[in-house]
Parts: sequence; C-alpha cells; structure tokens
Amino acid sequence: MSVTVPRDLRTGRTIWLDRRLPHIPKSQLGRSASCDVLVIGAGISGSIIAEALSDAGLQVALVDRRGPLQGSTAASTALLQYEIDTPLSVLGERIGRDRAERLWRRSRLAVDALRQRTRVLGIDANQATRDSLYLSGNVLDAAGLEAETLARKRAGFEVTFLKPPAVFETYGIKGRSAIVGRDNYMADPRLLAAGYLNAAISRGARLYAPVEVTDISASHSGVVVSTSDGPEIKARHLVFATGYEMPKGVPRKGNKIISTWAISTKPQPRNIWPTGSIIWEASDPYLYIRTTPEGHVICGGEDAEIADAEERDALNDEKTQALVRKLGGLLPMIDPTATHSWSGSFGDSKTGTPTIGPVPRMPNCYAAMGYGGNGITFSMMAGQMLRGMISGVGDADSDLVSFTRRF
Ligand SMILES: Cc1cc2nc3c(=O)[nH]c(=O)nc-3n(C[C@H](O)[C@H](O)[C@H](O)COP(=O)(O)OP(=O)(O)OC[C@H]3O[C@@H](n4cnc5c(N)ncnc54)[C@H](O)[C@@H]3O)c2cc1C
Repeated sequence: MSVTVPRDLRTGRTIWLDRRLPHIPKSQLGRSASCDVLVIGAGISGSIIAEALSDAGLQVALVDRRGPLQGSTAASTALLQYEIDTPLSVLGERIGRDRAERLWRRSRLAVDALRQRTRVLGIDANQATRDSLYLSGNVLDAAGLEAETLARKRAGFEVTFLKPPAVFETYGIKGRSAIVGRDNYMADPRLLAAGYLNAAISRGARLYAPVEVTDISASHSGVVVSTSDGPEIKARHLVFATGYEMPKGVPRKGNKIISTWAISTKPQPRNIWPTGSIIWEASDPYLYIRTTPEGHVICGGEDAEIADAEERDALNDEKTQALVRKLGGLLPMIDPTATHSWSGSFGDSKTGTPTIGPVPRMPNCYAAMGYGGNGITFSMMAGQMLRGMISGVGDADSDLVSFTRRF
C-alpha cells in the first residue's frame, strides 16, 4: 500500500526529453535513516523545497518511487508566470480584494525569487525572461480586461492595456484586446528541477530512489516512515511534494484531477512574434503559448474534466490536431505542425491558488499542493513558505494558502 494514490501521470514524448539531464547522485537506503526533514517526491516541488531547507541548514532527505523528475514535472510546459489563473479582479470578488492582492503579490515574489535563485545557483535550464500577453476571451471581454488592468495597477503591477489594433500591429493577432504583463519567466522544467536537486545534494541532502513511502506514523515528537525497500526513515518533519498523486488522509481543498494536452514545433526563430511573449487567454479552458530560446513554439490547453488516464489518452490524436489548428489560427505567421505531442494529468483548483502548510491532524507533516496553472510558481512559493514554517520563523502569507483557509 502506498500513502499516495498512484496515477499514470503523462503520455507521449515531451520536448524536454530531447535534452540530457546532468548526473543526479543517489544514496543507498541502509538499515534505517534519519534526517531533519523528509521530502516525499523529487519533482520540481520537492527539489525546490529541498534546496530551500538545506540552505536553511536542515538535514534533508528525499524519496521518490519513480526516480527524480519522472512525474508531472517532465510534462510541464513551464510558463513561469506570476499571473494566477483567476484574474485579480475576479479573485477579489470571491475572496476579498485585500487577500486577492496579497496572493498576486506573493506570486510575483515567487517568480522573481525563482529567477534570482536560479541565477545565484548557476543553474543552466535554458531559461529566459519574457513578457506576457493576456488576450480577451469568454472569461474577460475587452471591458473586463480594462477593469482587470485597473485592478492590477491599483495593486502595484506594471501592466499595459492594448486595444485590438495595437495587438494586431505588434503580435499579428486579430480582433483581441490584451493586457501586457512584465518579466515572467520560462525554462526547461527538468533541467530546472535537476539544478535545484543537485544544489541540495551538494549541501548533503540525500536522494533515495526508487523508494516508495508506504506508511507514515506522525506524532508530536516526529515522524516515522515505512518504505517499499523495508528500512524506516525517521524525521523531525515530513513534506508531501507528491504532485497530482494526492496523499491519503490529506484534505483535498476542492482540488481535482483533470486532463491537459500540449504540443511543440520545430525551431522557427524567424517566425516568432516580435517580443516572443508568453501568450494566454482570458478563457475557460484557455490556450497558452510560449517559445524556447531556440524558437520552438510550445502550445497547451484543451483541458477536459477527465481523471482517467485511458480516457485521456484515447483523445490524444484529436486534441493534438485541435491544438495545431488553434495555434495556426491564432498565429498565422508560424508553422504549427507538431513535432512532439503529449498529454498529462493536471491538478485543478477552484481559485487557481495552491495549498501549502501544516496538514491537519498529522503533526509535523506539511504539504505543498501547487494545483492550478501556476504549479511551478507555487513550487517556489512552497519552498519559501515551508522554509519559514519548518525553521520556526513562520511566513506572513501562510494564511492565504493554509488548509484552514475558508476559500
Ligand atoms: C501538460 C502540463 C503542462 C503544465 N504547464 C505548466 C506551466 O506552464 N506552468 C506551471 O507553472 N505549471 C505547469 N504545469 C504544472 C506543473 O508542471 C506541476 O505543478 C509540477 O510539475 C508539479 O511538480 P511536483 O514536483 O509537485 O510533482 P511531480 O513532478 O509529479 O513529482 C511528484 C513526485 O512524487 C513522487 N511520489 C508520489 N507518491 C509517492 C510515494 N508514496 N512515495 C514516493 N514517491 C512518491 C512521484 O513519483 C513524483 O515523481 C503543467 C502540468 C502539465 C501536466
């Protein structure tokens, strides 16, 4: 028995598998092991959290039942945006303006911190900074986008509202208004995660994989974990960074598993729109587009309320064709032919916001559930917040993402 529900997380060949990962050293799980913090899951979330905790001087161990970076992280399109799925003006109506602004600002901080920390650690993950273009759609029309622009400006964000002629002139996209957001980020998610994981390992963190956690006994004096390999691991604290394989006994907070699809094209640097901005839509479901520094175009979306992987994969051809058609329709200057296509499970969240913090009724256990389209931004937010919580100094925004919040 596992402590998480196993899933077939992804299918197909992603563009990231074309690049070799650096060596990631593993440790052998001896008779038993102990550490300050045990992180379950060695994807982008576990890697960033382990890096942050080891930087705080804590002795960290990670376990992963598959091996590092083989879960959802390998399927991510890795648009690293501060703009949360739910527009600030809409989120404000749902949870109050003050909380919505704090969440958006914290998300901005997480993207900036990710960029800065990646630079400080000297990680080469084919990363780049890009503006974003948020197109009008069925969630926000032109008037809604103007109101959203005002809401963002009031909260201190540097944004510009563009009318359709300006959008067409700069980006070649017809009939849409848009908001330009500044200084988002993008990277190869596997290389990014490998960089953080290796930084943690170089400070003494140990990675045990493939090792599955099969049982957890949590008390106020610490946590004892049983593993598929036999030996136990004792830890003062435990962090669930298990992605979309949700831990049993941990409240779901309204999160659910759906399906999503993505494609990438050949490199076509000459066809890329002038700023190479990340493009996404104020629609539900939405289409999103990014480039790589070499000029590949990556496009994702077509989300469907399907949790079953077989049902998801039965739609792969149809969804790939839909993405190719929509990409070509929106950006006539590019060749939308897919060289890679893939599908994945995806964790949806009602407000597009994550759940991070102490798990109710599981003493010394924490979870980083970065559900929503900004999963990797939330991995960084989790790294920052859990560092504060576990080292005892707390985090001023923890109420916004806690299990006990009322939204
Ligand atoms: C197609 C697609 C596109 C996406 N695009 C974006 C995007 O553009 N921007 C963005 O920010 N986010 C995006 N996301 C979301 C983002 O990729 C995820 O939030 C992120 O990869 C999750 O990382 P993780 O480390 O939490 O999970 P994972 O990478 O899945 O890692 C969790 C690990 O936990 C391990 N595990 C689980 N249970 C156990 C156990 N019992 N014992 C041991 N190990 C266990 C698993 O083996 C797995 O390796 C996208 C996701 C998909 C699928």
